[in-house]
Amino acid sequence: MFRRIIDSPRTYFILAALFFVIGVLVTVRISPPPRDAGSIQDLEGLAARDDLNVVFVLIDTLRADHLSAYGYERETSPVIDEIARYGVRFSQTTAQSSWTKASMASLWTGKHPAMSGVLRYGHGLGAEAEMPAELLKEAGFVTAGLYRNGWVDANFGFDQGFDVYIHPRMNENRMEFQRRQLGAQVGGTDLDITQAAIEFMRQYRHRRFMLYLHYMDVHQYAYDQNSALFGTQYKDYYDNAIRWTDSNLGMVLQELIDQDLFDKTILVIASDHGEEFRDHGREGHAKTLYREVVDTPLIFSLPFRLEEGLVIDTLVQNVDIWPTILDLLGIETPAGVTGRSLVPLMLGEQDGFKGRAMFSQLDGTWGQEDTEPAPFVAVTTEDWKMIRHLTTDRRELFDRIADPRERTNVAQREPEVVRVLDAQIDEHLAAVEEKGLQPVEFEMDELRLNQLRALGYNVGGKDN
Ligand SMILES: [Zn+2]
Repeated sequence: MFRRIIDSPRTYFILAALFFVIGVLVTVRISPPPRDAGSIQDLEGLAARDDLNVVFVLIDTLRADHLSAYGYERETSPVIDEIARYGVRFSQTTAQSSWTKASMASLWTGKHPAMSGVLRYGHGLGAEAEMPAELLKEAGFVTAGLYRNGWVDANFGFDQGFDVYIHPRMNENRMEFQRRQLGAQVGGTDLDITQAAIEFMRQYRHRRFMLYLHYMDVHQYAYDQNSALFGTQYKDYYDNAIRWTDSNLGMVLQELIDQDLFDKTILVIASDHGEEFRDHGREGHAKTLYREVVDTPLIFSLPFRLEEGLVIDTLVQNVDIWPTILDLLGIETPAGVTGRSLVPLMLGEQDGFKGRAMFSQLDGTWGQEDTEPAPFVAVTTEDWKMIRHLTTDRRELFDRIADPRERTNVAQREPEVVRVLDAQIDEHLAAVEEKGLQPVEFEMDELRLNQLRALGYNVGGKDN
């Protein structure tokens, strides 16, 4: 995996000179990480270290293909690109749902939606859910969660294990802000998260900590003047918001560097789902399971530099994130988790990853009161993706190689592929019997429903 790309001395000197020049340019821009290069032994040795911190950055509503690190033609993410350059970037990551609460319940528990049980708007995680923050707190970490999305509020069980779990206070008057999403009125900006994170790191830099930052301005299409770089169409506002969030991440990164924390921090960047721009005729998210809403970024920055540009193309999924972080820290992942550690892939071992299928799930009526569930499940393999509606038995099959944008349903033409993928979905759902959690049902009062409606969700109606 840590392949030698430079074999001749001549190439080496030319490239070294080139990297020096690029290095100077990047220095001017964001101060590159002043870290030593690491080896496979360093990676394997992380679990034995007792000085590591975790910063887990969740950028809500971020589709992978709008990041320059993932080949987007616009420079939306210079900071993320820089982090990815010396870390590990997973090029094909599947989120477990296209709706925040279901997706985050899976990401934290390492269990797919059918097994986390969190599928409808009143559902939450019960005390039996074993949350990573609980494990880290037990291991002596100070744990803090900073978020601005009501779907991950404490009352849905997401605060389990956190010493501090807050929606930071608003500092909105500090800058002129643009908001483009209709109906969206979440107070404050992501700068509130960034500033609270910086305060936290200053206070706890001498302790081991786990910091969860849940950024929300991409969801809100909100950004400052300096990030208004990409035009005035709907999709441009989204890209501006990515650039703004990226600059927030730059502030967090700078603080890690300034506090001498960057070489003892595992930094992870992920998202809960993407966003549709009429790719399949709709806008927003939480409605379908096409690629634009479930293909999300995943980047690990380790406490040392890796060989530049390490990209892993094996299919992975968000339920793998915490088993990986725990593995890196030498903390055992709880039994019954459906995700698995990606550390072997980082070490170049493919065993057990080839042919592994990824699953996502959404209940088509999740936001409606007194309706029957209408779940659908997507299975993704190297070659195929199939979405199966469990109540209507409708299937959409896409050839991922010939049709990566999932335009043409070839289910009729490929009955044998449908049969194989059907069996995989059946097997996946059957595992619920063994590993499933019972969701806790929450009463949603009008106040809370209105807060969620302010995020742009149509919830609590009889039909929508
Ligand atoms: Zn979300």
